[in-house]
Amino acid sequence: VPDRIHETVAELKDKGVDVVRVTYPDLIGTDRGRDVLVDHLPSVCAHGLAFCRAVYHTTPRGETLAVAGGLDAGLPDVCVYPELDTLRLIPWEPGVAWCLGETTDPATGELAPEGPRSVLRDVLARMARESGLRPVVGPELEYFLCESDGNGGWKRYGEATGNVYVAGRRGDPDAHLLRTLRHLHKLGIGATTGNHEYSSGQFEINLDHSEALDAADRAYLFKASIKELARLDGMLATFMAKPFNDEGGSGFHFHMSCLDADDANAFDGPGEPYGLSAVAGHAIAGILKHAPAIAALLNPTVNSYKRFGPDTLAPWLIDWGLDNRSAMVRIPPERGPGARLEVRLGDATANPYLATAALVAAAHLGIRDQLAPPAPLEGYGYDTSKAPVLPASLAEALDAFAADSDLIGLLGKEFADAFLTYKRDEVARFNQHVTDWEFAEYAYHL
Ligand code: GLU
Ligand code: MG
Ligand code: MG
Repeated sequence: VPDRIHETVAELKDKGVDVVRVTYPDLIGTDRGRDVLVDHLPSVCAHGLAFCRAVYHTTPRGETLAVAGGLDAGLPDVCVYPELDTLRLIPWEPGVAWCLGETTDPATGELAPEGPRSVLRDVLARMARESGLRPVVGPELEYFLCESDGNGGWKRYGEATGNVYVAGRRGDPDAHLLRTLRHLHKLGIGATTGNHEYSSGQFEINLDHSEALDAADRAYLFKASIKELARLDGMLATFMAKPFNDEGGSGFHFHMSCLDADDANAFDGPGEPYGLSAVAGHAIAGILKHAPAIAALLNPTVNSYKRFGPDTLAPWLIDWGLDNRSAMVRIPPERGPGARLEVRLGDATANPYLATAALVAAAHLGIRDQLAPPAPLEGYGYDTSKAPVLPASLAEALDAFAADSDLIGLLGKEFADAFLTYKRDEVARFNQHVTDWEFAEYAYHL
């Protein structure tokens, strides 16, 4: 138990907090957790909060999947220990503070190997050890807001075309985005700007950059906050990759650089080609080489692959380009401390911890193996004569991931097995499901 636990409890009470919401991510990035009465916090810090380990492989609809150490082992516990330095007040839920937790296997006392936060921690430690670099990440997440259609369904909020970058009531009729920004400011997760995006009812909020674990924590809390705040206004916020046929998808772009031992940006390369260092080139090459495999983590749903395509502003090919939004990896124009990659591959459904871990691992492998990138894309980025195509389905990406032993070596075999079991089951369930499209296509004329 941390020495300062009783001081922490006293401070929380002074601030009017009577409940601490202890939260941790499952495999798919859903925020799970439990509300703890503040007087009970010292005991929770000492003994952890026990949850059924199946949380790592329970589908959103509550089905439990058979993975090793799951049902066959009697669904043992994982224990979640609050990390007190992540405590923050929830501005829209007076009296409640949020605290991230670490999932631990009570049998070993070690961090649970499938725990997304431990997967990321391990990759970061490996990178620091082997190349002395610390990745810095700036997350950009897009999402759609929906409101009730009055018939038990949802319609896009503020439905209108042409509202990209329109600030104010035309794109945000009820000032929901404005309220959200103000709440996020008080929550202290480094939200900086918000805007209406290209698609009708689609918004983006940018988070400040910071070292990768902190950035992933903030992106995780961001997604949870957006869903909660929408619910508070009777709305639905969805991070689905491609929720609508007639609009574009929602990306999860990662701005990424690396700090060296002197805290300098290791991607900056004054006087070198494109003003990028050799290390940046290796990182780009690693991300391109491992793209089909990391897609499994950056684009982790059946629906994710419907976001890719020509002229979508989402990627379709495995390429990189200088300030080119049609490339999978865009190099924004800033150099110096701002020299960085914008990896546009991910979609908003990605678990922030696993997506960050996958990206860092791919960059690390590129740096370790001193891979050289191809020449950057010039012009139009959706020309298949210029670069290979991304996986066309989750099944393809999972196969690429399963075959990438270097990547699995970094992310951990136990994690990879659990993830592959979960996601292959998702693919199988989808393949068996008869969709509306099939009925419209086949029911009448064949
Ligand atoms: N919505 C696009 C995507 O899915 C990105 C658009 C943008 O550049 O902001 O990645
Ligand atoms: Mg955007
Ligand atoms: Mg972006």
